[in-house]
Amino acid sequence: MPTVPTVRGPVDTTELGRTYMHEHVFVLTPDVQQNYPDEWGDEEQRVSDAVGKLRALAASGVRTIVDPTVVGLGRYIPRIQRVAQQVPDLNIVVATGCYTYDDVPFFFHHRGPALNAALGAEVPDPMVDMFIGDITEGIAGTGVRAGLLKCAIDTPGLTPGVERIMRAVAKAHLQTGAPITVHTHPHSKQGLHVQRVFGEEGVDPRRVVLGHSGDTTDADHLEALASAGFWLGMDRFGINLGTTFEARADIVVELCRRGFADQIVLAHDAACYIDWIDPNVLAFMPQWHYLHIEQEVLPYLREHGVTDQQIEIMLVDNPRRYFDGP
Ligand SMILES: [Zn+2]
Repeated sequence: MPTVPTVRGPVDTTELGRTYMHEHVFVLTPDVQQNYPDEWGDEEQRVSDAVGKLRALAASGVRTIVDPTVVGLGRYIPRIQRVAQQVPDLNIVVATGCYTYDDVPFFFHHRGPALNAALGAEVPDPMVDMFIGDITEGIAGTGVRAGLLKCAIDTPGLTPGVERIMRAVAKAHLQTGAPITVHTHPHSKQGLHVQRVFGEEGVDPRRVVLGHSGDTTDADHLEALASAGFWLGMDRFGINLGTTFEARADIVVELCRRGFADQIVLAHDAACYIDWIDPNVLAFMPQWHYLHIEQEVLPYLREHGVTDQQIEIMLVDNPRRYFDGP
């Protein structure tokens, strides 16, 4: 029976249930937080706030969230463990990888392939072994194993840093079998870079979610990527800046109409707390919370011709198949 590692231990993929495939618990900037902790405030209060929000999510029928918070997003597993212990009805799958739109973090600037020219030899990237260790042994001595890999590409495109991380993620995937999720920018068709680089590395697109696909309304572009085998992450419901609720929902309706329900996964890309956004701006994003899909998106999809069976496929079957592998 295939299992997925979660914060509280392995879970059979058949037990994942309704799964939101891209939700954060906390998104933080650790070195800013360590030096300017006032906004974060009281640790106990932040943890209990998260527990409350995630219990409400579990009460809505969601059994699992996939949290792709990695280096660059402030991953800190001991805090996630504290939260998870208090939300026993929700599985949390955590990730390994590295998140940047341009350069690798300075930690990696003078390590691995950065030394190739100076040493006149191919130096292996330490990221690969770091990612593999997170997947096979656990993260930072917590015993919590990562269930998937994460990298990112955005409007700057395939910069040397983005490519280095993407190839490290591909290598760790090939050695461990852990699936991959990629932050993409579909307006600028960055999925095509993902397709080429992962193709060169020998990654099966059926193991890869192209995240944030729902940011675009270009159904033909998404159809081409889905036809190549990728999963489409319609995973930013509620972030209706630069797009609308209807645009995000209608592209799901259209792709279901075109027969791609079995390659779509859903989520909000929400967080209990994110320090990237001024709280005064968050006030203008009232739909960006963990209950928005259940309360507003699913009724809209049903009204526009998406069947209950297709919804079940997107929320239950597809996450299970993603982790099972073909
Ligand atoms: Zn995210």
